[in-house]
Amino acid sequence: MEKIVENLRKNGFTVTEFDTAEAAADYLAGSLHGKTVGMGGSVTLGQTGLYDRLKADNTVLWHQVAPGDDTCIPACNAQVYITSANAVSQEGYILNIDGRGNRVAGTLMKKERVIFVIGENKLSGPFPEALDRARNVAAPKNAQRLHKKTPCAVDGICHDCASPDRICNALVVMWKKPSWCESMEVVLVRQDLGY
Ligand code: SF4
Repeated sequence: MEKIVENLRKNGFTVTEFDTAEAAADYLAGSLHGKTVGMGGSVTLGQTGLYDRLKADNTVLWHQVAPGDDTCIPACNAQVYITSANAVSQEGYILNIDGRGNRVAGTLMKKERVIFVIGENKLSGPFPEALDRARNVAAPKNAQRLHKKTPCAVDGICHDCASPDRICNALVVMWKKPSWCESMEVVLVRQDLGY
């Protein structure tokens, strides 16, 4: 973990570390006031309870509680965007695969602040292993969770399918912090969170 944290910092990401999801949520709730906050689809975020914590003092847009484009599009345009990641590579690259594209878009076009809340189970080896994790661990589990009619939802392995329900249509790799973004932060939790 130490090497990945070092490489994330070298790549321009701010890294904050916590022992529990609750401590991470305390930190984020304490640092966000009066903001518009978009949240990307994420089991991890659900486990942190962040939506309820943040909405007390911010305008929070999360399609997991208000489905549809009416939430996704303003969430992408919010001042702050929070999501998780499918994997973090040994080199300190942050990987996300997306079906609709809204989640990865929210992390790319953000000037003020992007936050990735990541459990230690997402930390991987070199980039090919991280990509393998994203395609053969995270994506099949998400396909199962979302009741998608894909081959991976049946056997847990990616078949690079052509299914209309395919959830792997865009891959964004944050090699380094995009220069337009003022703050891109990894909130690292020493617990297993999400897939
Ligand atoms: S089988 Fe299709 S939906 Fe499942 S992980 Fe592979 S590309 Fe994604």
